Amino acid sequence: MTGKKRIVLLGATGSIGQSTLSVIRNARDDLELVGISGNSRFRELAEIAREFRVPHAALADENAYRDCREAGAFPGACRLRSGISGITELAVLPEADVVLVASSGTAALGPALAAIEAGKDIALANKEILVLAGKFVTAAARKHQVRLLPVDSEHSALFQCLEGRRTEDVSRLILTASGGAFIDREPDELARVIPADALRHPNWSMGPKVTIDSATMANKGLEMIEAHWLFSFDADRIDVVLHRQSIIHSMIELTDGSILAQLSPPCMTFAIHHALMYPRRVPGVAKGLDFSEVHRLDLAPLPPGRFPCLTLAREALHAGGVAPAVFNTANEVAVEAFLAHRFPFLHIPHVIDNTLEAFDNFEPRTVNDVLEVEKAARRTASELVQSQPWKKIS
Ligand code: NAD
Ligand code: MG
Repeated sequence: MTGKKRIVLLGATGSIGQSTLSVIRNARDDLELVGISGNSRFRELAEIAREFRVPHAALADENAYRDCREAGAFPGACRLRSGISGITELAVLPEADVVLVASSGTAALGPALAAIEAGKDIALANKEILVLAGKFVTAAARKHQVRLLPVDSEHSALFQCLEGRRTEDVSRLILTASGGAFIDREPDELARVIPADALRHPNWSMGPKVTIDSATMANKGLEMIEAHWLFSFDADRIDVVLHRQSIIHSMIELTDGSILAQLSPPCMTFAIHHALMYPRRVPGVAKGLDFSEVHRLDLAPLPPGRFPCLTLAREALHAGGVAPAVFNTANEVAVEAFLAHRFPFLHIPHVIDNTLEAFDNFEPRTVNDVLEVEKAARRTASELVQSQPWKKIS
């Protein structure tokens, strides 16, 4: 490729957003930021606009947008937009080559679909939109011949292992899981854990939602569904193995029994860099594995029965239709309540299970179908969270 790749970064103020900024800072000859978005933290977004001289920005939250305008926080050379329409305008900027979707939640679905329709390659950190509407996102990417480049570290690993390989030579995908914050806790201790405990991830520093999802292993469930859509493997050909060190990011098994893996230190820089530079390989990304030190690579089965959220996700993927969308929404509602100290950790899978039970599954025909299901599942899950006499636990 000649010239710089021009990037729109949705979710610039988040954890992946920050890691992406450091990748771009170190690759200014190859990468240029042309658009950034955030939800409400306008001063941080303005700082990024200033540092990278970004010409276009958007804030999702309309109140934050008004406050930002009043405060005159943005540099004059940056055109600031607001709301979902503002973010969608960024996603289709004519000058953009790649849109990195690093905002959390399903609000990114519309902008991501618009970017695909405008022919932009997508670097995808956000897994929720594939879980909600993978069928539509992947169909649109095929139709418009754009790339879906995974940024989630496991999927980046699978993508790299699968590259250039015939699908019929691959028997299964093996996702690695660190085990999250509570892997060494006794099951009865989990009844008393509070958000601060769950937010202490042993290997990764991430946003709050994905960190809680790591502790419940719902994250691995979402990743299983994400892998299904990205690589067209069925649920029974996607396994999960416990790997505490988060150095092997995932593996594929070939039909002859050989296993291929991708390794790097547990930091998102490698996956972000790979997606943004694709298909180039560029030296000096970050400090690699240092074999003058001892590294352990433990691989073990998951403790049986310990992670009901993962089992529910597998069942939802098997069921297909709107079940994964219901799973994702119910999990989101339960995690929000847990993070707000309104709900105990151990009840998160109950809300998911009961919400799934409440829905008759069907095959969605349009994106609107899944958005309607999401709304309804949010109502059902919120009622379930509130209907219980659960006390504030802190
Ligand atoms: P985060 O909470 O740190 O950041 C979220 C970003 O999204 C922020 O910039 C926020 O302003 C923006 N945002 C939130 N709600 C929004 C809305 N309604 N509209 C527009 N923007 C909104 O989250 P994160 O850890 O950076 O994760 C981002 C995404 O990447 C998630 O989907 C997560 O599952 C995925 N992911 C994260 C990691 C990680 O290491 N952090 C790894 C793999 C995948
Ligand atoms: Mg991951």
